[in-house]
Amino acid sequence: MTLTLDRQPSARQAQERRVFSFSPGPAVLPLPVLREVQRDLLALPGAGGSVLEISHRSPAFDAILAEAEANLRELLAVPADYRVFFLQGGASLQFSMVPINLLRGQGLPATYILTGTWGGKAAMEARREGRVHVVWDDADGAYARVPSAAELDLPEASSYVHYTSNETIQGVQFRRPPEVGDSPLVCDASSEFLSRPVDVGKFGLLYACAQKNAGPAGLTVVVVSDEVLERCGDDLHSMLSYRRHAEKGSRLNTPNVFGVYVFLLMTRWLRDEVGGLEAASARAKAKTGLIYDALDADGGEFYVPHAEVASRSRMNVTFRLRTSELEPAFVAAAAERDLVALKGHRSVGGFRASLYNAMPMEGAERLRDFMLDFRATH
Ligand SMILES: *Cc1c(COP(=O)(O)O)cnc(C)c1O
Repeated sequence: MTLTLDRQPSARQAQERRVFSFSPGPAVLPLPVLREVQRDLLALPGAGGSVLEISHRSPAFDAILAEAEANLRELLAVPADYRVFFLQGGASLQFSMVPINLLRGQGLPATYILTGTWGGKAAMEARREGRVHVVWDDADGAYARVPSAAELDLPEASSYVHYTSNETIQGVQFRRPPEVGDSPLVCDASSEFLSRPVDVGKFGLLYACAQKNAGPAGLTVVVVSDEVLERCGDDLHSMLSYRRHAEKGSRLNTPNVFGVYVFLLMTRWLRDEVGGLEAASARAKAKTGLIYDALDADGGEFYVPHAEVASRSRMNVTFRLRTSELEPAFVAAAAERDLVALKGHRSVGGFRASLYNAMPMEGAERLRDFMLDFRATH
């Protein structure tokens, strides 16, 4: 693929054919959001310049940041005693920031629940900062399910308990947050963020990168309770300190202005077009339901789902073919129907269809039809 810098924006560009991308992230964005970005890119109404050109201290960005936070608070029903930050460094930086702020110098170990690849990476960074207690690690079972409450033998007290609500690579998702007693619950919600309502009050800290469900890459949202903020270490590098970010309200340095702007448009779209997070959740269930039904239609003869039924993700559907030699043919035939980015993560193999917020119902229907046809013809 070659990228050209076109001096004469042409009709061709505007009508470029769009495929259905099942990419795990960066992922699809809603067309109305992309159109609005495109329409206002040269001059943001009232700002006199592009959103790419305005100062992060300008009134225009003040308004963008304030509305982005307000919309997020409304969609997620964030309690008043929680702070919201728009940071950079991806969810991966939070793997380090969480233990740097909440484990370093604390007497108690941190507890990690590992249900897939991302949780393992988070625990690896935490070990650099202090003692880490792993209460669940189903690597031997290839991370095909999440534990039940009875299977979690949590210590009486931890500096915090970390889990990954949706493991993007394995396609397993918690239906509800684990009960962890009085220890603060920390959640990597990256790949299910804003896809369903959550009871924020149950969490001490919740973080998510935006590029799966909620915007472009390069933006990370952190929601943290005042109580947990109080516990954070104070003598830290400023950029790694939640307290310093709290003092400066997402503007400790230059934030990802464009990312916050697109996130704002996403929150408006979720509220006004989708109808809020209950509706988003129903959509996600309906879309992934079509794919799971297609997988199950032959009882495992042709398609082999990865996740156990009760743990199946409503975001990332993982599966392989009983006859793995057919996998290249599956990818090629899907691409012919404009269904792309279906290859599974290299560590799991097979396929992964990510159906985030912005994937239209039509995309899920087309994939379902393709899967049924492919089985019928092979
Ligand atoms: C994508 C993803 C990450 C990594 O996000 P980056 O922004 O690339 O650092 C972490 N956790 C989960 C659950 C993810 O899906």
